Amino acid sequence: MESTGSRFLFQKRNEKIDWRRLAGLDINRIANEVDVDAIQENIATVTYCNIEYELGHDSLDPNFIKLFRLAQLMIEYLLHCQQYLQASLEEKQNTINLVTEHIQAVQQQEAATKNELNLRNEMYKKLKKEFNKAKVQIADYQLMIRAGASGQYKCVYCNKSFVSEFYLSSHLQRRHPNESQKMFPLSPTSLYNSQVQNEINVVRERLLATEAELIAEKQKIKIIQNESCQRDEDLVRDDFTYEGLLTIDDYVLIMGGVMTDKEIVQNIIEIVNEEMKETKPLMKR
Ligand SMILES: [Zn+2]
Repeated sequence: MESTGSRFLFQKRNEKIDWRRLAGLDINRIANEVDVDAIQENIATVTYCNIEYELGHDSLDPNFIKLFRLAQLMIEYLLHCQQYLQASLEEKQNTINLVTEHIQAVQQQEAATKNELNLRNEMYKKLKKEFNKAKVQIADYQLMIRAGASGQYKCVYCNKSFVSEFYLSSHLQRRHPNESQKMFPLSPTSLYNSQVQNEINVVRERLLATEAELIAEKQKIKIIQNESCQRDEDLVRDDFTYEGLLTIDDYVLIMGGVMTDKEIVQNIIEIVNEEMKETKPLMKR
C-alpha cells in the first residue's frame, strides 16, 4: 500500500478478551467447517487485544509474545488491504457505471445521427435529381438561345431574333398580323388563320349571292309598297337592314356544311357582322 492519501497506522491494543466465550470455541470445528462467521466475530478481539496484559508478562515465552504480536500486525495490515481493495473496487465500479452510461448516451446519439444522415442522403439524392433536371433544362435553353441568336427564328419584317418558333409566331401575330398570315401559312396559328380566311372567302361569296337576292327581294317589296302606300314604304326602308333579316342560324345556313368548328363559325360571324356594317348604308340607299 503506497502512501496514497491517508497514511496507514497500526492501532493500539486495548480489546478485552472474553475468556469464557473463548473457552466455548472449538478451533478444530471452525477449521473443518470453514466457519467464516466465527472468524469474523472474533477477529477484532484477537487483533486488538493486549496479550501481555491478558496473560501476564512473566508467564509467557518472549518468542511466543513476539510471534503473537507479529500475527496481530499481519491481521491488521491485511484488514487494511481488504478495506482498501474494497474501496477501489467500488470506485472502479462507479467509473464503469459512468462509462456505461456515457457509452449508452453516445450510442443513442449515434443512432440519431445515423437517422439524420439517412434523411440528408435522401434529400441530397432528391436535390441532385432536381439539379440534373435543371441542368438539362438550362442546356436546352442555352441551345435555344444560341439558335435564336444565330437567327434561326428571325422575323423577316423587323429582323428581330427569337429563342423559339413559338415566340417568333407570337411576335408575328402581334406586330405583323397581316403579313404573317400570308408568309407563314404552315405554322399552327397561321394555318388556323388561313383556314379561317378560306372559310371567310367562301362565306363572302355566298353572302354576295344572298345580298343580290335580298336586293332583288327589296325591289319587289318596293314595287309592292309603291303600289299600296308611300308612308309604309318609308317605314320598311328604315327597318330594312341585314341585322333584321339575318340571324346566327341564317349564317350557319349560308355556310352550309362547310363549317364544323364552333370557334371558326363564331369568328366568321364576327367578320360577317363587320362586313354588314359596311354594306348597310348601301342597302339603305
Ligand atoms: Zn418583326
